[in-house]
Amino acid sequence: MEPKTIFEKSVKGRIGYSLPECEIDKNLEDFFPTEILRKVKPNLPEVSELDAMRHYIEISAKNHFIEKGFYPLGSCTMKYNPKINDIVNTLLGLTNLHPYQPEDTIQGALQIMYELQNDLSEISGMAEVSLQPVAGAHSEFAGANIIYNYHKNKGNQKTKIIMPDSAHGTNPATSALHGYEVVEIKSNEQGKVDIDALKQVIAKDIAGFMLTNPNTLGVFETEVKEIAEIIHSVDGLMYMDGANLNAMLGYIRPGDIGVDIVHFNLHKTFSTPHGGGGPGGGGIGVIKKLVRFLPFPIIKKENDKYYFDYNIKNSIGKVHSFYGNFLVMVRAYIYLKMLGEKGLQRVAENAIINTNYLMKKLENYFPVPYQKDVMHEFVASGEKFKKYDVKTLDIAKRLLDYGFHAPTIYFPLIVHEALMIEPTETESKETLDSFIEAMIKISEEAESNPEKLKNAPENTPVGRLDETAAIKNLDVKFSFDDEITETANKR
Ligand SMILES: *Cc1c(COP(=O)(O)O)cnc(C)c1O
Repeated sequence: MEPKTIFEKSVKGRIGYSLPECEIDKNLEDFFPTEILRKVKPNLPEVSELDAMRHYIEISAKNHFIEKGFYPLGSCTMKYNPKINDIVNTLLGLTNLHPYQPEDTIQGALQIMYELQNDLSEISGMAEVSLQPVAGAHSEFAGANIIYNYHKNKGNQKTKIIMPDSAHGTNPATSALHGYEVVEIKSNEQGKVDIDALKQVIAKDIAGFMLTNPNTLGVFETEVKEIAEIIHSVDGLMYMDGANLNAMLGYIRPGDIGVDIVHFNLHKTFSTPHGGGGPGGGGIGVIKKLVRFLPFPIIKKENDKYYFDYNIKNSIGKVHSFYGNFLVMVRAYIYLKMLGEKGLQRVAENAIINTNYLMKKLENYFPVPYQKDVMHEFVASGEKFKKYDVKTLDIAKRLLDYGFHAPTIYFPLIVHEALMIEPTETESKETLDSFIEAMIKISEEAESNPEKLKNAPENTPVGRLDETAAIKNLDVKFSFDDEITETANKR
């Protein structure tokens, strides 16, 4: 049956709410200029509460989400986000705050931000954290700006940032957007930064190094201290993309191994449901000599009072409206406080154990070229199935039929036909085993029945789409026919 929009389900007069009589006997015209008032009533659907609920549940069930099934989308850390976060997040004392409220009426909110700043500083070994940025990439851009201002302040002439070919795509993107020339160096045979290659490009005009650690192969960069020494020898700054911090929580502090700036993906490591573009959180931490460049405001405490500190000498300024995404901070705060020190360590341990278990069980079916020091994710290759005319894309699509979200594919580029698999710490052995079973079945199907894979998925609401056409020719229904749409159309 063709699915219906909620507008098509609408029945005139079937109303799912009852509101009290309006107590004001004035017309809207008494409050607002007539030219901004609408002339036609909005075309809103009229359905019962139950029908509205069913409509949205029906739509959501067509999607894939972590509460529905395994979601091993490499790089994205699709862990289960504890519901206690959302319970706290609906408290009116948090949701009804206004950004312009006087500080003495929001002491609790400021305390949450203050303690989160301190906890993240402690976890990362940084001197201070700003919670302003709202995404990983946003922090990287702010980080590039801090690097720029640090050098400008010292009168340094710097134009380049170095990074390995295993860097996350946002690293070169944000550096280049800031105006830096990106110098890419090759990884060595272990998938780590090649120190000799680094020594060849090191020069006076190097502003810094951006290191994703663990890198996009899931491999832990063991030589960070040496890399940092080389970078520091030309007064460069060491930036660590900490989006994969999940793998080191409670064990390794970037600040202890020579990192000068690090960002956190609050929505990955510290649990906020993500995908679809936000909202996220991307706190950024720096060592002592860079604190004066951090985006403001930072929360400070004096005489038992919390306050916004805008008095940061060389601050790069605000990078977001108001204070960042506050409720994402609340989730991270609850997550941290619930787990505590030992709990955080177990996050890292289980993420690593789950990953290495999957890798060992699958390596005979899907070769894994870089295995040494694999942490929280690994990258397998589907290249050997090319002889059956089966691509990694076909394998990913077939996984959907087995009820799993596909891994990240064709990234990172250094592995051909890449399948980037990140199980996270929240999955049980039974779930991992059923995923392994499906992957092995698919590897057999690739050989015995490649057509099956090329026609996959079969069991999903829509089958295989032409991905380019799907973006260009949207198959959506609009049911608005009021003046707003008319005005929009005219524009
Ligand atoms: C997700 C991710 C980013 C980007 O973070 P966003 O919040 O999506 O901007 C950067 N680096 C790595 C390693 C990541 O996994």
